[in-house]
Parts: sequence; C-alpha cells; structure tokens
Amino acid sequence: MRVTFSGLERAGIRSWQDNGDLIMAEVQILPDVHGDSIEEMALVKRIVSEFQHISHLSQNFPPEVLNQLTSGISAAALTNQFAQYFQMDIPVKQKILETTDVNERMIQIIAELEKQQKLNEIENSINDKVKEHIDESQKEYFLREKLRAIKEELGDTTNFTDDADQLRQTIENNPYPQHVKDKALEELQRYEMLPQGSGEASVERSYLDWLLKVPWYQETEDNEDLKRVRQILDEDHYGLTKVKERIMEYLAVKQMTGTLNAPILCLVGPPGVGKTSLAKSIARALDRKFVKMSLGGVKDEAEIRGHRRTYLGSMPGRVIQGMKKAGVINPVFLIDEIDKLGADYKGDPADALLEVLDPEQNAVFSDHYLEEPYDLSKVLFVCTANYLENIPAPLQDRLEIIELPSYTEVDKEHIAIEHLIPKQIAVNGLKPAQFHLRQKEILYLIRHYTRESGVRQLERCIGSLCRKTVLAILNDGKKSVTVTKKLINQWLGKEIYEYGTKESKNQVGVVTGLAYTSFGGDILQVEVNYFEGHGKLVLTGKLGDVMKESAEIAVDYVKAHARELGIDPAFFDNHDVHIHVPEGAVPKDGPSAGVTLTTALVSALTNTPVRADLAMTGEVTLRGNVLPIGGLREKSLAANRSGINRILIPKNNLRDVDEVPEEVRSQITYVPVENMSQVLREALTR
Ligand code: ADP
Repeated sequence: MRVTFSGLERAGIRSWQDNGDLIMAEVQILPDVHGDSIEEMALVKRIVSEFQHISHLSQNFPPEVLNQLTSGISAAALTNQFAQYFQMDIPVKQKILETTDVNERMIQIIAELEKQQKLNEIENSINDKVKEHIDESQKEYFLREKLRAIKEELGDTTNFTDDADQLRQTIENNPYPQHVKDKALEELQRYEMLPQGSGEASVERSYLDWLLKVPWYQETEDNEDLKRVRQILDEDHYGLTKVKERIMEYLAVKQMTGTLNAPILCLVGPPGVGKTSLAKSIARALDRKFVKMSLGGVKDEAEIRGHRRTYLGSMPGRVIQGMKKAGVINPVFLIDEIDKLGADYKGDPADALLEVLDPEQNAVFSDHYLEEPYDLSKVLFVCTANYLENIPAPLQDRLEIIELPSYTEVDKEHIAIEHLIPKQIAVNGLKPAQFHLRQKEILYLIRHYTRESGVRQLERCIGSLCRKTVLAILNDGKKSVTVTKKLINQWLGKEIYEYGTKESKNQVGVVTGLAYTSFGGDILQVEVNYFEGHGKLVLTGKLGDVMKESAEIAVDYVKAHARELGIDPAFFDNHDVHIHVPEGAVPKDGPSAGVTLTTALVSALTNTPVRADLAMTGEVTLRGNVLPIGGLREKSLAANRSGINRILIPKNNLRDVDEVPEEVRSQITYVPVENMSQVLREALTR
C-alpha cells in the first residue's frame, strides 16, 4: 500500500495537546497574500529561467512536477513545490513556509537559487584549478596506461611497451648529448604511437637503434708515449723508415697541439706495399680502435652520407656505419682506395668526403639518415690510394701525402723472413721448427712466382706452402719440412714468370718500355707491324688518350725524318701501321712511352732488330727531343724484377737516379739520352 500526503493549505498552530499516541493541534488557515500581480509574473518567469539554468537541480524533482513547472502553474503552487523538492537548509525551508506573501516567498527562492548558482560556479572553477594541477607525469602515466589498454584491446603483443620502456631507460641513463636525447625521446613517442609489427614501426625502431648505438660519448685513451708508438710501428713493418718518420712527426704535432686540425694522412703506393697494415699498426700503436671503409666503386653520395629515412630500407652512410662498428668516437678510420672514387664518379661523393675529412666541417658532419649532426673531429682518418693522379684535386688539397714505394728484392726477402713467414706459420697452426724456407728459395719465389711491387702474392705463396706443409705433417707423418726448389715446383706448379732470360733474342719491331701504373712500375712490350694499305694507324691494347697522341707523334716524327732514317717517304701512302701494347687488361696512359713507340716504329720500318737487354722510357716531342718522366724509382725496380739491366732515360732524369735503392741501382746501367737519334743509336743493332 502506498500513501501520498499532499499539503492543502498553509496553517498556523494555535494550541496543541499530546495524549501519548497522537499530537492534536488547533490550527488557523493562513491564506496566501498576493501582492502586485505584474511583479508576481516577473518573479515566476525569473524562477523558471534560473531553474532551467541550473540543470542538475532538476534531478531531485519528480518528472511530473517538472512537467507542471514548465507548463505553467500558479505562483503560490510554484513556491510550494520548490520549497518541497529543492534542496535547502531546514531553517530556510521553514522560513519560506511561514511566509504568506507569495511575492516575498518567490524572492526568497530566487535568492536560494542564486546562491546555488554561485556555489556551482565556484565549484567548477575549483575543479578546473585542480585539474590543471595534476602533474604532467601523472597525465603521461594515465595516457600511457590508456594506450596500453587500447593496444591490448587491439591484440598487440605486450612486450612492445617493454621494449619502449627499455629504450626510454637507455636514453635516460646514458650520457648522450642533449640534442640526441631530445631527438630520441621524440622518436620514441612516435614509435609508441605506431601499431606494432607495422612497417613504419620497424623503420622507426631501426632508426632508434642506429641513433642510440652510434657512439656519441664512448672514447678510448690514447697511448701518448711516442717511443712506444715508434717501437710498435717498427715491430709491425720492416723498413719504410721515411714513412714511419713522417707518421711520427704527424703524431707528435698532433699531440703537441692537442687537436687533429692537421691535414689527413694519405698513404699512396701500389697494392701490397703495406698501406692497410700500416694504418692498422698506427691504431695499435695509439691504442685506438680500427675501422675501414672501402671507397672502391662508390658512385653515389648517399653511400657516404646515407639515405633519407623516407626511402624504404634506408641506412646511414658508410661513415656512420664505420663509427658504429668502431663503437668509440676516436678510432683510426681507414678510408681505402680514395682514388677509385675519383675514377668512377666525379661529382658528389667527393664533396661528401670532403666534408668528412675537412677538420673545419667534420665536427658537425650530417648524415641524411641520422639527421642529428655528428662529431667526427676526434677521428684519426687515414686514406690510402694507389695512384696520386686519380685523387680528385680538392681532396688532394686536404691530404698529407706519404708515398710508399715498391719493394726491392732485398726488401722482400727481409719482409718474408721477418714478417710473412712467422705470420703464416702462426696462422696455419705450425711451429717455427716445422717449416723452413731459406733465403735462396725465397728469392726463387720472388723471381719466378711473383711479379709485383708489394708482397701480397709472395705472402700468398708462402701461405700456400705452409698449408701444404701442414698436410704433409698430418698425412705423411713428417716432422718438419724444408722447402726446396723441387718442392716449390711440385706444390705451386711450374714457374709462372721467367727471370732475366726475357726476350733474349734481338727482334724487329719489338721494344721494351717502362710504365708507371696504379700497380706500381711495370715493363711494357710495344710491337709494331705494317702491311699494305692507305696510311692508316691502328692502335690496340687499351691505351689512354695521351698514349694515342704519343703514337701519332711517333708516326709524324718518322715521316719527318724518313730520308735520314732510310725509309721511303712514300711508304705511308700505301701501307697501314699497327701498334700494339700487349697485356691489354691494365689501362696504360701517359706520355713516357714516346721513345718506346718511336723506336719500335723505326725498327719495324727499317727492319732493324732492337737490343733485347734494353728497356727505355721518355717523352718525345715532334722535333725528336726526349723530355723527362716521373716514377724512375718504380720503373727501375720493375726493370730489375724482369732481369733487365740497361735502361735509356731522359738526361734530365739523371738526378732522380739517387732515389733508386742502392741494391737495384748497382745492377742497372743508366744511359742518359737527349734526343731520338741518340735513342736509336743505342737501341738499334746496326
Ligand atoms: P696495401 O694496403 O698497400 O694494398 P696491405 O697492407 O694489404 O697492402 O699489405 C699486404 C701484406 O703485406 C700484409 O700482410 C702486410 O702485413 C704485408 N706487408 C707489407 N709491407 C710490409 C712491411 N714493410 N713489413 C711487413 N709486412 C709488410
């Protein structure tokens, strides 16, 4: 059963009695007193509008009352309803109840409403202030939790956030430079927003990996004891006295000035003369880490400076890759084959490399991938090149060139005995007592199994002999092996090169020249033949432009001096001439083959044999003068390697003969010449 009470009238108590169960009262009805009716209307309107403003108040009102209120009821009823449902303090309610004047009651209600409104406003502003004061990190925590929840909903694996947390710790706990930290945190945030397993997330992840794994602060301490440095350089390499001295000077100045603000070291020389291993040795001597970057075949700036991250599978350039491998900011960084860069491509990679090598710029090296500037100023760069001329000029400018010359036979013997043999013995797990390779056999190897400026081939031969020895010891139960000539023939096959006996027969139209290529000095056979034709000149054998010009000059010289040389001036009208330089794989260029070409031509056309024990070098002018050439040392060594002991050289090159090592110089007769007629007199066997 449900009982509803509803107030019908307002009443005042006159008297009352309490009989224990029930209180009875005598009352007097208090009728509503109406004041000004216009004022009453205005007040009603006001109450209704205020009430609608404070919308949440209506929650306390039963819906049917709300309906009544908005559809319009009498002012008196309105005040009564309000007093009943509106939350007010009891004394206020009592006061409204006691007031018979309707307008007065409405004014009291409005005051109450207004008070409520004010309270609301204050409360809101307090809420706002409190919200503002919620700590940023709390907010972040909150958001992260939310994110985690969302990711879980989406079925993303949970270790993702662990990974991000770990990254965050790595960033915060290590002394990265501030700009790197900022960047890393920014990228980390991006990473967290990306769905796990998406392509973008993995791109972002590997970027973070690079950014955090490249060394920014890790550094090794240099060995500053220069005596010890020199000792290590001597330990690692035989000879090279001048080179080591230059390196010592360089390191000393570096130590004195406390900066690396000097030109970069560049070791130039033929393959196998120890450029790479010397750079390694510098690193060992200084107690620095060693890394190597090869520029052979680099065509694109991006290989040095990296690809922008927008490319799929983009990576930092080789410089930054090298630094990551080194793991410290001050390694010895070998840039190999810096001349191959110039040969393949002219434009941009050289520019990028300039930025790497230039001490003015490399403190803020920019890699496209990494984006943050990287400091290379503590790196000790060492470059290598085979051929000085092939290094782009602006780069050459920044380099301190140190030339490593070819080795003589004596040098090679020493290197073999003191370095290569012990090294190969160790590499192949032998004991020194188990392998004997004597000087005589070493020389035999040098002369008949190698023809090189350096010692690479020689090292390979020794290595191969060591391996055969290991096999012999294990298979045939031998205790030790002493290498003999017979054993070399058996193990390495028959002799590859002849020595000394080369072209022992004087021939027509065949002349030995001397060349200086990126492989060091070499001998070069020029052959000339002619046949009936119309005066055409055919050149074969991979010749450079300058060499082709030399051939034309040779032909013109012969034409101009035909009578004097005993050649029919009409010869070229009805003959073609073919000049060939065999062993076409190596590009040959330079003017110094002039005398060789001319001599071969004259020999062929006059049918006069050329002395076979002779080699020559020199540039020829149209008028037949012989001009000086470069690389006399290398050329002499090449001649010596091939067993040639008589060389025609331009007279002006006599002063360079001093540079040729004594042991080679003493075996060679240098014949200085000034013009072609002298050359021909010396060379042709008339
Ligand atoms: P490059 O870089 O000039 O082509 P490498 O440094 O690779 O030559 O040298 C080839 C090999 O010859 C290495 O094993 C090196 O140790 C050895 N070598 C070269 N020169 C010497 C030397 N003067 N003393 C000892 N070993 C040498």
